[in-house]
Amino acid sequence: MIKLTQGNIVDFAGDAIVNAANKSLLGGGGVDGAIHRAAGPELLAECRTLGGCPTGQARLTRGYQLPARYVIHTVGPVWKGGNHGEKELLSSCYRESLQLADRQGLRSIAFPNISTGVYGFPKEPAARIAIQTVREFLEARPEMEVSFFCFDAENYAIYQSLLKEQPDPASKQ
Ligand code: ADP
Repeated sequence: MIKLTQGNIVDFAGDAIVNAANKSLLGGGGVDGAIHRAAGPELLAECRTLGGCPTGQARLTRGYQLPARYVIHTVGPVWKGGNHGEKELLSSCYRESLQLADRQGLRSIAFPNISTGVYGFPKEPAARIAIQTVREFLEARPEMEVSFFCFDAENYAIYQSLLKEQPDPASKQ
């Protein structure tokens, strides 16, 4: 099941929230800063033990002071014009995060709009990739609940309109 919410992802009270982190996993601005502030300093302490994360992959930590039990840190691609593997890497962020959640037995997971802030990925193509990747995953794991948390009104409007569209079985990434 896919849900859409406009708001701050730190308020999500499910199994895991996904963090749009940078490769160091040592904190940054945007959603990453908000998650670290809300989780407290123990989150950074655990992140320091992980040794970073390559773009397109995901790592798990506990949620500490957050309502969510776990944080899945994934590193989105920086937009460099679209011919540097950005689409595949963004899709990989969603897929790897879902696979990690599934391996941990987590069922409810919330995503921010990865790479669409400071990393500059255009919002509509990013939303199409996010929705298609999640829909493909949910075909195999229909019991999982995936929430898209849109912070800005523009992303929320894009997701609202795209989620009304039927999945196109011919359009594989
Ligand atoms: P990136 O570096 O991957 O682009 P950003 O944090 O700059 O990451 O932005 C990613 C998305 O997260 C943007 O759409 C931004 O509006 C959104 N965002 C920022 N703060 C929050 C928050 N507290 N909860 C949910 N989304 C947020």
